[in-house]
Amino acid sequence: MELQTNVIKPYLDQVYPTVSHGSGVYLYDVNGKAYLDGCSGAVTANIGHGVREVIQAMCDQAHKVSFTYRSQFTSEPAEQLGEKIASWTPGDLNQVFFVNSGSEANETAMKVAIQYWQEKGCKGKNKILSRWMSYHGITLGALSLSGHISRRKRFASTLEPAPVLEPPYCYRCPFNLSYPDCRLHCAEQLETVIQRIGAENIAAFIAEPIIGAAGGAVTPPPQYYNRIKEICERNDILFIADEVMTGNGRTGERFGIDHWGVIPDIMTLGKGMSAGYTPMAAAIVSDRIIEVIREGSQSIMSGHTYSANPQSAAVSLAVMNYIDEQQLLNQVNERGLYLSRGMQQLKQKHSIIGDIRGKGLLYGIEFVKNSRVGKSPFPLSEKITDQLINQAMKNGLLVYNASGAVNGQAGDAIIIAPPFVISEREIDHLLSILDETIRQLTEELI
Ligand code: PLP
Repeated sequence: MELQTNVIKPYLDQVYPTVSHGSGVYLYDVNGKAYLDGCSGAVTANIGHGVREVIQAMCDQAHKVSFTYRSQFTSEPAEQLGEKIASWTPGDLNQVFFVNSGSEANETAMKVAIQYWQEKGCKGKNKILSRWMSYHGITLGALSLSGHISRRKRFASTLEPAPVLEPPYCYRCPFNLSYPDCRLHCAEQLETVIQRIGAENIAAFIAEPIIGAAGGAVTPPPQYYNRIKEICERNDILFIADEVMTGNGRTGERFGIDHWGVIPDIMTLGKGMSAGYTPMAAAIVSDRIIEVIREGSQSIMSGHTYSANPQSAAVSLAVMNYIDEQQLLNQVNERGLYLSRGMQQLKQKHSIIGDIRGKGLLYGIEFVKNSRVGKSPFPLSEKITDQLINQAMKNGLLVYNASGAVNGQAGDAIIIAPPFVISEREIDHLLSILDETIRQLTEELI
Protein backbone atom coordinates (compact mmCIF):
# COMPACT_ATOMS: atom_id res chain seq x y z
CA MET A 1 0.00 0.00 0.00
CA GLU A 2 1.43 3.40 -0.98
CA LEU A 3 -0.06 6.50 0.71
CA GLN A 4 0.02 9.42 -1.73
CA THR A 5 -2.05 12.09 -0.03
CA ASN A 6 -1.76 15.80 0.79
CA VAL A 7 1.76 15.57 2.12
CA ILE A 8 4.20 17.50 -0.07
CA LYS A 9 7.10 15.18 -0.94
CA PRO A 10 10.64 16.29 -1.88
CA TYR A 11 9.95 15.36 -5.51
CA LEU A 12 6.25 15.97 -5.98
CA ASP A 13 5.49 13.20 -8.42
CA GLN A 14 7.81 10.52 -7.09
CA VAL A 15 6.13 7.61 -5.36
CA TYR A 16 7.74 6.91 -1.98
CA PRO A 17 7.28 3.66 -0.08
CA THR A 18 5.29 4.01 3.14
CA VAL A 19 7.38 3.04 6.13
CA SER A 20 5.95 0.63 8.64
CA HIS A 21 8.65 0.23 11.32
CA GLY A 22 12.35 0.01 12.00
CA SER A 23 14.57 -2.35 13.94
CA GLY A 24 18.36 -2.16 14.30
CA VAL A 25 19.85 -1.27 10.92
CA TYR A 26 16.71 -2.16 8.94
CA LEU A 27 13.57 -0.24 7.97
CA TYR A 28 10.46 -2.03 6.71
CA ASP A 29 7.72 -0.68 4.47
CA VAL A 30 4.04 -1.53 4.80
CA ASN A 31 4.42 -4.26 2.17
CA GLY A 32 7.00 -6.01 4.33
CA LYS A 33 10.01 -5.09 2.19
CA ALA A 34 13.25 -4.62 4.21
CA TYR A 35 15.72 -1.78 3.55
CA LEU A 36 19.20 -1.87 5.01
CA ASP A 37 19.71 1.67 6.31
CA GLY A 38 23.16 2.22 4.82
CA CYS A 39 23.12 5.97 5.51
CA SER A 40 21.16 6.21 8.79
CA GLY A 41 18.50 8.15 6.87
CA ALA A 42 20.20 11.51 6.49
CA VAL A 43 23.26 10.38 8.53
CA THR A 44 21.03 10.68 11.59
CA ALA A 45 19.82 7.32 12.98
CA ASN A 46 23.24 6.76 14.54
CA ILE A 47 22.30 4.08 17.06
CA GLY A 48 19.81 2.27 14.82
CA HIS A 49 16.07 1.97 15.00
CA GLY A 50 13.90 0.87 17.91
CA VAL A 51 16.44 1.08 20.75
CA ARG A 52 14.57 0.04 23.90
CA GLU A 53 16.46 2.35 26.30
CA VAL A 54 15.63 5.43 24.21
CA ILE A 55 11.97 4.49 23.85
CA GLN A 56 11.81 3.97 27.63
CA ALA A 57 13.35 7.41 28.30
CA MET A 58 10.83 8.93 25.88
CA CYS A 59 7.89 7.28 27.68
CA ASP A 60 9.19 8.12 31.15
CA GLN A 61 9.54 11.81 30.26
CA ALA A 62 6.15 11.89 28.51
CA HIS A 63 4.57 10.67 31.75
CA LYS A 64 6.18 13.61 33.60
CA VAL A 65 5.86 16.49 31.12
CA SER A 66 6.45 16.82 27.37
CA PHE A 67 6.49 20.57 26.87
CA THR A 68 7.50 23.54 28.91
CA TYR A 69 8.49 26.94 27.53
CA ARG A 70 12.14 27.83 27.95
CA SER A 71 11.38 31.36 29.18
CA GLN A 72 9.29 29.90 32.04
CA PHE A 73 11.06 26.70 33.08
CA THR A 74 14.22 24.76 32.71
CA SER A 75 13.95 20.98 33.06
CA GLU A 76 15.99 18.16 34.55
CA PRO A 77 16.63 16.46 31.20
CA ALA A 78 17.74 19.73 29.56
CA GLU A 79 20.12 20.49 32.45
CA GLN A 80 21.49 16.94 32.45
CA LEU A 81 21.90 16.98 28.67
CA GLY A 82 23.77 20.29 28.84
CA GLU A 83 26.12 18.74 31.40
CA LYS A 84 26.56 15.60 29.30
CA ILE A 85 27.41 17.59 26.18
CA ALA A 86 29.89 19.75 28.10
CA SER A 87 31.56 16.55 29.33
CA TRP A 88 32.03 15.44 25.69
CA THR A 89 33.09 18.73 24.09
CA PRO A 90 36.75 19.81 24.07
CA GLY A 91 38.23 22.86 25.84
CA ASP A 92 35.87 25.48 27.25
CA LEU A 93 32.97 24.63 24.94
CA ASN A 94 30.58 24.32 27.87
CA GLN A 95 27.56 26.54 27.19
CA VAL A 96 24.73 24.84 25.31
CA PHE A 97 21.90 26.57 23.45
CA PHE A 98 19.22 24.08 22.37
CA VAL A 99 17.34 24.31 19.07
CA ASN A 100 15.55 21.82 16.83
CA SER A 101 17.53 21.39 13.62
CA GLY A 102 21.03 21.75 12.24
CA SER A 103 19.94 24.81 10.28
CA GLU A 104 18.71 26.52 13.44
CA ALA A 105 21.92 25.57 15.24
CA ASN A 106 23.96 27.32 12.57
CA GLU A 107 21.64 30.34 12.56
CA THR A 108 22.22 30.57 16.32
CA ALA A 109 25.99 30.19 15.91
CA MET A 110 26.02 33.05 13.38
CA LYS A 111 24.00 35.29 15.69
CA VAL A 112 26.06 34.50 18.79
CA ALA A 113 29.29 35.22 16.87
CA ILE A 114 27.99 38.58 15.63
CA GLN A 115 26.54 39.46 19.04
CA TYR A 116 29.86 38.62 20.75
CA TRP A 117 31.74 41.17 18.67
CA GLN A 118 28.96 43.75 19.10
CA GLU A 119 29.17 43.38 22.86
CA LYS A 120 32.92 43.83 22.67
CA GLY A 121 32.34 47.10 20.83
CA CYS A 122 33.37 45.80 17.36
CA LYS A 123 30.08 46.41 15.56
CA GLY A 124 31.63 46.11 12.09
CA LYS A 125 32.69 42.51 12.68
CA ASN A 126 29.55 40.88 11.32
CA LYS A 127 30.49 38.90 8.21
CA ILE A 128 30.71 35.10 8.42
CA LEU A 129 33.10 33.41 5.99
CA SER A 130 32.53 29.92 4.64
CA ARG A 131 33.68 27.56 1.89
CA TRP A 132 32.39 26.42 -1.44
CA MET A 133 31.30 22.77 -1.37
CA SER A 134 29.63 23.03 2.01
CA TYR A 135 26.20 22.67 3.51
CA HIS A 136 25.08 24.44 6.67
CA GLY A 137 21.30 24.33 6.35
CA ILE A 138 18.23 25.22 4.37
CA THR A 139 17.03 28.39 6.19
CA LEU A 140 18.07 31.56 4.37
CA GLY A 141 20.85 32.50 6.82
CA ALA A 142 22.40 29.04 6.91
CA LEU A 143 21.88 28.66 3.16
CA SER A 144 23.72 31.94 2.62
CA LEU A 145 26.77 30.28 4.17
CA SER A 146 26.35 27.09 2.17
CA GLY A 147 28.42 26.42 -0.90
CA HIS A 148 25.98 23.79 -2.12
CA ILE A 149 25.22 25.08 -5.57
CA SER A 150 22.04 23.20 -6.44
CA ARG A 151 20.46 24.08 -3.08
CA ARG A 152 21.35 27.79 -3.20
CA LYS A 153 20.97 28.63 -6.91
CA ARG A 154 17.22 29.31 -6.94
CA PHE A 155 17.53 31.75 -4.03
CA ALA A 156 20.91 33.23 -4.96
CA SER A 157 19.62 36.78 -5.35
CA THR A 158 17.98 36.68 -1.90
CA LEU A 159 20.97 35.23 -0.07
CA GLU A 160 23.82 37.09 1.55
CA PRO A 161 26.95 37.07 -0.65
CA ALA A 162 28.31 33.61 -1.44
CA PRO A 163 31.02 31.63 0.35
CA VAL A 164 34.56 32.71 -0.37
CA LEU A 165 36.98 29.87 0.28
CA GLU A 166 37.83 26.92 -1.96
CA PRO A 167 37.28 23.52 -0.33
CA PRO A 168 40.05 21.17 0.86
CA TYR A 169 39.10 18.70 -1.88
CA CYS A 170 42.31 16.74 -2.46
CA TYR A 171 40.83 14.37 -5.08
CA ARG A 172 40.24 17.36 -7.38
CA CYS A 173 42.35 20.09 -5.84
CA PRO A 174 40.88 23.49 -6.85
CA PHE A 175 44.47 24.74 -7.12
CA ASN A 176 45.78 21.71 -9.05
CA LEU A 177 48.20 20.94 -6.27
CA SER A 178 48.78 17.79 -4.27
CA TYR A 179 49.32 17.20 -0.58
CA PRO A 180 51.82 17.66 1.09
CA ASP A 181 53.68 19.70 -1.56
CA CYS A 182 50.69 22.10 -1.63
CA ARG A 183 51.69 23.29 1.87
CA LEU A 184 47.98 23.57 2.62
CA HIS A 185 47.37 26.28 0.08
CA CYS A 186 43.59 25.86 0.57
CA ALA A 187 43.95 26.80 4.25
CA GLU A 188 46.41 29.60 3.48
CA GLN A 189 43.75 31.09 1.19
CA LEU A 190 41.84 32.11 4.32
CA GLU A 191 44.62 34.58 5.16
CA THR A 192 44.40 36.15 1.69
CA VAL A 193 40.61 36.43 1.90
CA ILE A 194 40.78 38.02 5.35
CA GLN A 195 43.28 40.60 4.10
CA ARG A 196 40.97 41.47 1.18
CA ILE A 197 37.79 41.78 3.26
CA GLY A 198 39.45 43.16 6.40
CA ALA A 199 39.47 41.31 9.73
CA GLU A 200 37.58 44.28 11.22
CA ASN A 201 34.57 43.20 9.13
CA ILE A 202 34.65 39.47 9.90
CA ALA A 203 33.00 37.78 12.89
CA ALA A 204 33.69 34.11 12.16
CA PHE A 205 34.65 31.36 9.77
CA ILE A 206 32.42 28.26 9.61
CA ALA A 207 33.31 24.81 8.25
CA GLU A 208 32.14 21.21 8.42
CA PRO A 209 35.16 19.21 9.68
CA ILE A 210 34.38 16.60 7.02
CA ILE A 211 32.28 17.87 4.11
CA GLY A 212 28.99 15.98 3.95
CA ALA A 213 26.03 16.58 1.66
CA ALA A 214 27.86 18.91 -0.72
CA GLY A 215 30.65 16.49 -1.60
CA GLY A 216 30.43 13.09 0.07
CA ALA A 217 32.66 12.85 3.16
CA VAL A 218 35.42 15.01 1.65
CA THR A 219 38.15 14.87 4.28
CA PRO A 220 40.74 17.66 4.63
CA PRO A 221 44.41 16.66 5.00
CA PRO A 222 46.30 16.57 8.32
CA GLN A 223 47.04 19.99 9.84
CA TYR A 224 44.37 21.72 7.71
CA TYR A 225 42.25 22.87 10.66
CA ASN A 226 45.28 23.60 12.80
CA ARG A 227 46.34 26.11 10.16
CA ILE A 228 42.78 27.49 9.84
CA LYS A 229 42.49 27.96 13.61
CA GLU A 230 45.88 29.67 13.76
CA ILE A 231 44.82 32.14 11.03
CA CYS A 232 41.46 32.78 12.74
CA GLU A 233 43.07 33.41 16.12
CA ARG A 234 45.73 35.73 14.73
CA ASN A 235 43.01 37.81 13.04
CA ASP A 236 40.52 37.80 15.93
CA ILE A 237 38.00 35.72 14.02
CA LEU A 238 35.90 33.00 15.69
CA PHE A 239 36.03 29.46 14.32
CA ILE A 240 32.66 27.67 14.14
CA ALA A 241 32.78 23.88 13.59
CA ASP A 242 29.55 22.66 12.02
CA GLU A 243 29.38 19.17 13.53
CA VAL A 244 25.76 18.57 12.58
CA MET A 245 26.77 15.55 10.49
CA THR A 246 30.19 14.71 11.94
CA GLY A 247 29.39 15.12 15.64
CA ASN A 248 28.27 12.65 18.32
CA GLY A 249 30.64 9.87 17.33
CA ARG A 250 29.93 9.52 13.62
CA THR A 251 33.59 9.75 12.55
CA GLY A 252 35.02 7.57 15.34
CA GLU A 253 35.88 10.50 17.63
CA ARG A 254 33.25 12.31 19.66
CA PHE A 255 33.46 15.21 17.19
CA GLY A 256 34.93 15.40 13.70
CA ILE A 257 37.26 18.25 14.62
CA ASP A 258 38.87 16.04 17.32
CA HIS A 259 40.77 14.28 14.49
CA TRP A 260 42.74 17.53 14.10
CA GLY A 261 42.96 18.24 17.85
CA VAL A 262 41.54 21.73 17.30
CA ILE A 263 39.15 23.46 19.71
CA PRO A 264 36.55 25.63 17.97
CA ASP A 265 34.96 28.72 19.56
CA ILE A 266 31.46 27.54 18.70
CA MET A 267 30.29 24.07 17.67
CA THR A 268 26.92 23.09 16.24
CA LEU A 269 25.23 19.70 16.62
CA GLY A 270 22.08 18.12 15.20
CA LYS A 271 21.20 14.86 13.43
CA GLY A 272 22.98 12.21 15.57
CA MET A 273 22.43 14.20 18.75
CA SER A 274 19.02 12.60 19.15
CA ALA A 275 19.77 9.91 16.54
CA GLY A 276 16.48 10.70 14.83
CA TYR A 277 14.22 9.81 17.78
CA THR A 278 13.00 13.41 18.16
CA PRO A 279 14.11 16.75 16.66
CA MET A 280 17.02 18.17 18.69
CA ALA A 281 20.07 20.28 17.89
CA ALA A 282 22.37 22.70 19.68
CA ALA A 283 24.93 25.46 19.40
CA ILE A 284 27.70 24.99 21.95
CA VAL A 285 29.51 28.17 22.84
CA SER A 286 32.78 28.70 24.72
CA ASP A 287 32.69 30.02 28.30
CA ARG A 288 34.76 32.97 27.11
CA ILE A 289 32.11 34.13 24.61
CA ILE A 290 29.23 33.71 27.04
CA GLU A 291 31.15 35.63 29.70
CA VAL A 292 31.35 38.65 27.38
CA ILE A 293 27.60 38.50 26.72
CA ARG A 294 26.88 37.97 30.43
CA GLU A 295 28.81 41.12 31.25
CA GLY A 296 27.03 42.95 28.44
CA SER A 297 23.41 42.61 27.34
CA GLN A 298 22.92 39.38 29.35
CA SER A 299 20.73 37.69 26.79
CA ILE A 300 21.12 35.76 23.54
CA MET A 301 18.83 37.13 20.89
CA SER A 302 17.77 33.77 19.46
CA GLY A 303 15.51 30.84 20.32
CA HIS A 304 12.46 28.92 19.23
CA THR A 305 9.24 27.77 20.87
CA TYR A 306 10.54 24.21 21.07
CA SER A 307 14.08 25.11 22.21
CA ALA A 308 15.22 22.88 25.09
CA ASN A 309 12.08 20.77 24.81
CA PRO A 310 12.13 18.37 27.80
CA GLN A 311 10.93 15.41 25.74
CA SER A 312 13.67 15.85 23.15
CA ALA A 313 16.26 16.52 25.83
CA ALA A 314 15.40 13.25 27.61
CA VAL A 315 15.73 11.39 24.34
CA SER A 316 19.08 12.97 23.41
CA LEU A 317 20.43 12.27 26.86
CA ALA A 318 19.40 8.61 26.52
CA VAL A 319 21.09 8.47 23.09
CA MET A 320 24.38 9.91 24.41
CA ASN A 321 24.30 7.60 27.45
CA TYR A 322 23.65 4.63 25.17
CA ILE A 323 26.70 5.51 23.04
CA ASP A 324 28.87 5.66 26.19
CA GLU A 325 27.42 2.56 27.86
CA GLN A 326 27.65 0.40 24.75
CA GLN A 327 31.11 1.84 23.94
CA LEU A 328 29.90 2.53 20.44
CA LEU A 329 32.85 4.76 19.50
CA ASN A 330 35.11 1.67 19.53
CA GLN A 331 32.57 -0.06 17.35
CA VAL A 332 32.47 2.87 14.90
CA ASN A 333 36.24 2.56 14.45
CA GLU A 334 36.30 -1.23 14.15
CA ARG A 335 33.31 -1.52 11.84
CA GLY A 336 34.50 1.53 9.90
CA LEU A 337 37.74 -0.26 9.07
CA TYR A 338 35.86 -3.38 8.04
CA LEU A 339 33.52 -1.35 5.82
CA SER A 340 36.38 0.62 4.33
CA ARG A 341 38.28 -2.55 3.38
CA GLY A 342 35.17 -3.91 1.69
CA MET A 343 34.63 -0.68 -0.25
CA GLN A 344 38.27 -0.67 -1.41
CA GLN A 345 37.64 -4.15 -2.84
CA LEU A 346 34.62 -2.78 -4.71
CA LYS A 347 36.86 -0.01 -6.08
CA GLN A 348 39.24 -2.64 -7.51
CA LYS A 349 36.29 -4.29 -9.19
CA HIS A 350 34.28 -1.33 -10.53
CA SER A 351 36.02 1.24 -12.71
CA ILE A 352 33.28 3.83 -12.10
CA ILE A 353 34.41 4.20 -8.49
CA GLY A 354 36.84 7.11 -8.53
CA ASP A 355 37.43 7.88 -4.87
CA ILE A 356 36.53 6.55 -1.44
CA ARG A 357 37.09 8.86 1.52
CA GLY A 358 35.96 9.50 5.07
CA LYS A 359 36.52 8.47 8.66
CA GLY A 360 34.82 6.21 11.19
CA LEU A 361 31.44 5.28 9.75
CA LEU A 362 31.15 8.30 7.44
CA TYR A 363 32.27 7.42 3.93
CA GLY A 364 31.85 9.03 0.55
CA ILE A 365 32.11 7.28 -2.79
CA GLU A 366 32.67 9.46 -5.86
CA PHE A 367 31.86 8.05 -9.29
CA VAL A 368 33.73 8.83 -12.52
CA LYS A 369 33.49 7.62 -16.12
CA ASN A 370 36.51 5.35 -15.88
CA SER A 371 38.90 5.53 -12.97
CA ARG A 372 41.43 3.35 -14.84
CA VAL A 373 42.11 6.20 -17.27
CA GLY A 374 41.39 9.37 -15.25
CA LYS A 375 38.90 11.29 -13.17
CA SER A 376 36.43 12.49 -15.84
CA PRO A 377 33.08 13.00 -14.13
CA PHE A 378 29.68 12.35 -15.64
CA PRO A 379 27.63 15.51 -16.27
CA LEU A 380 24.94 15.87 -13.59
CA SER A 381 22.31 15.80 -16.35
CA GLU A 382 22.96 12.04 -16.67
CA LYS A 383 21.67 11.69 -13.09
CA ILE A 384 24.07 8.87 -12.25
CA THR A 385 23.70 9.40 -8.49
CA ASP A 386 19.90 9.41 -8.69
CA GLN A 387 19.92 6.24 -10.78
CA LEU A 388 22.25 4.55 -8.34
CA ILE A 389 20.22 5.57 -5.30
CA ASN A 390 16.95 4.43 -6.88
CA GLN A 391 18.43 1.10 -7.96
CA ALA A 392 19.97 0.56 -4.52
CA MET A 393 16.58 1.24 -2.94
CA LYS A 394 14.93 -1.28 -5.27
CA ASN A 395 17.61 -3.74 -4.16
CA GLY A 396 16.88 -2.98 -0.49
CA LEU A 397 19.69 -0.57 0.42
CA LEU A 398 19.47 3.10 1.43
CA VAL A 399 22.39 5.41 0.51
CA TYR A 400 22.58 9.22 0.72
CA ASN A 401 22.89 11.67 -2.17
CA ALA A 402 25.98 13.91 -2.08
CA SER A 403 26.30 14.80 -5.75
CA GLY A 404 27.37 18.07 -7.34
CA ALA A 405 30.87 18.27 -5.88
CA VAL A 406 32.43 19.56 -9.12
CA ASN A 407 31.19 23.17 -9.35
CA GLY A 408 27.63 21.97 -8.93
CA GLN A 409 27.79 20.73 -12.54
CA ALA A 410 29.16 17.26 -11.98
CA GLY A 411 30.65 15.02 -9.33
CA ASP A 412 28.42 12.07 -8.59
CA ALA A 413 28.80 10.96 -5.01
CA ILE A 414 26.98 9.05 -2.31
CA ILE A 415 27.45 8.77 1.43
CA ILE A 416 27.61 5.41 3.18
CA ALA A 417 27.04 5.91 6.91
CA PRO A 418 25.20 3.03 8.57
CA PRO A 419 24.15 3.06 12.24
CA PHE A 420 27.03 2.45 14.69
CA VAL A 421 25.45 -0.85 15.75
CA ILE A 422 25.88 -2.50 12.35
CA SER A 423 27.44 -5.99 12.55
CA GLU A 424 30.10 -7.39 10.20
CA ARG A 425 27.49 -9.69 8.69
CA GLU A 426 25.23 -6.71 8.00
CA ILE A 427 28.18 -4.82 6.46
CA ASP A 428 28.72 -7.82 4.16
CA HIS A 429 25.05 -7.57 3.20
CA LEU A 430 25.41 -3.81 2.57
CA LEU A 431 28.48 -4.37 0.40
CA SER A 432 26.88 -7.17 -1.60
CA ILE A 433 23.83 -5.02 -2.46
CA LEU A 434 26.10 -2.07 -3.34
CA ASP A 435 28.24 -4.34 -5.52
CA GLU A 436 25.19 -5.65 -7.39
CA THR A 437 23.72 -2.13 -7.74
CA ILE A 438 26.94 -0.74 -9.25
CA ARG A 439 27.14 -3.76 -11.57
CA GLN A 440 23.57 -3.13 -12.78
CA LEU A 441 24.25 0.60 -13.27
CA THR A 442 27.49 -0.05 -15.17
CA GLU A 443 25.70 -2.53 -17.45
CA GLU A 444 23.11 0.14 -18.30
CA LEU A 445 25.82 2.70 -19.03
CA ILE A 446 27.64 0.47 -21.54
N1 PLP B 1 24.95 21.27 8.70
C1 PLP B 1 25.34 20.11 8.14
C2 PLP B 1 26.81 19.79 8.10
C3 PLP B 1 24.40 19.25 7.59
O1 PLP B 1 24.80 18.12 7.02
C4 PLP B 1 23.03 19.59 7.66
C5 PLP B 1 22.00 18.72 7.07
O2 PLP B 1 22.26 17.90 6.23
C6 PLP B 1 22.67 20.80 8.26
C7 PLP B 1 23.65 21.62 8.78
C8 PLP B 1 21.23 21.20 8.36
O3 PLP B 1 20.60 20.42 9.30
P1 PLP B 1 18.99 20.29 9.30
O4 PLP B 1 18.63 19.55 8.05
O5 PLP B 1 18.72 19.50 10.55
O6 PLP B 1 18.43 21.66 9.36
